[in-house]
Amino acid sequence: MKVFKFGGASLESIERIHKVGAIVQSFPDEKLLIVISAMGKTTNELEKVAQNFFLRKREIAAQLLYNIEQQHLEVAAALLGTREHPLFRQLQQFFTEAEWTLGEKPMRSYDYYYDQLVSLGELLSTAIISAWFNQAGIPNTWVDVRDVFRTDDNFRDANIDWAFTQRQVTEKVLPLFNNVNVVIAQGFIGSTDQNESVTLGREGSDYSAAVFANMLDAESQTIWKDVEGLKNADPKLFPNTVNIPEISYSEVIEMAYYGAQVIHPKTIKPLQNKQIPLYVKCFLNKDLPGTLIREDADHAQLPPIIVLKKNQVLITVTSRDYAFITEDKISDIYDIFHSLKIKINLMQNAAISFSCCIDNNPEKIEQLIKALHHDFKLAYNEGLELLTIRYAKDGLLEELCNGRTVLLEQRSAVTVQRILK
Ligand code: ASP
Ligand code: MG
Repeated sequence: MKVFKFGGASLESIERIHKVGAIVQSFPDEKLLIVISAMGKTTNELEKVAQNFFLRKREIAAQLLYNIEQQHLEVAAALLGTREHPLFRQLQQFFTEAEWTLGEKPMRSYDYYYDQLVSLGELLSTAIISAWFNQAGIPNTWVDVRDVFRTDDNFRDANIDWAFTQRQVTEKVLPLFNNVNVVIAQGFIGSTDQNESVTLGREGSDYSAAVFANMLDAESQTIWKDVEGLKNADPKLFPNTVNIPEISYSEVIEMAYYGAQVIHPKTIKPLQNKQIPLYVKCFLNKDLPGTLIREDADHAQLPPIIVLKKNQVLITVTSRDYAFITEDKISDIYDIFHSLKIKINLMQNAAISFSCCIDNNPEKIEQLIKALHHDFKLAYNEGLELLTIRYAKDGLLEELCNGRTVLLEQRSAVTVQRILK
């Protein structure tokens, strides 16, 4: 059994959806659990529906939802060549449920309504792809993953109840493969024990696929993207990026930690636990080598890995009484960051000061200043970038920092980080 994940970009146009079909057809004898995310930018559009609903701008919300409905009906009709198909009744039901939600007075949290509305994207995309696959000669079974993935009620970042979900996968999903080779499920969503829809965090479909791979003891997972594979830097920010043929689980976790937007960070652990290899491949050309992620990856050819985090703020906290910033003070400072849910991207301390780099979030910074100002002076410097290079080659750091002011630098055996203005 293999697990495949297709993201929004692979469902962005009819032409691309046909490519997805061709890829699946090229594995005729394989049992495939296919996880699919919402089409194109649907999740962003649904977020706007949720926002407007919560602001009680019901008409705008309804109009945005209507636009999403029309787009999906058009795609479905173009794929199937008709509007006379049971799929259209199924889609109608999904929209009717969403419209009911829009008719409610928002009495619960925003995150709750967000999940009830935003989960629609994956239900629509999977229903459409499943119906079209069946018509196009790829017999498959559609699964409502909300009957399988049980979570807590931490809406928008729900945590999976591992034991319950494993039981559902074994008892409900696995037997489906007795009748078909292809099972299609939604990424990104799940359900509480009260049958409320939840989401697992933006871009969470990679993680959903990894949970399936773990629980089905899959031989591999493949994430099909519109790029060649993992690159050593973001091609939108750097010229001359190269593909990484092979890389270890832990290196990918490091990349994600430093801010590379590669694969959803939660994805690796379920795979690593069962030593399931993860392939990142290009659905536009499946013959490109892509990237293999596994435990004992061959790093001999690993290029320098470059991660740039923009819109950073360097905060310097100094004690008011010139007292040393020792362990107890650092612990107090950390507690404050923790309680405000501010992630520290880099930190350094000196005798009477503590410096750290965080994402720019003016609201949070204001709360931070309030919380610290009794005991500390706080200075900050905005509009910065945090550059991280692992396995830097001679001259690369200088080349990337050319003409920039370096505010802080930190080095370890393989990693160098600089805060740049
Ligand atoms: N559709 C969701 C998102 O855009 C989940 C995913 O794509 O993985 O965040
Ligand atoms: Mg997506």
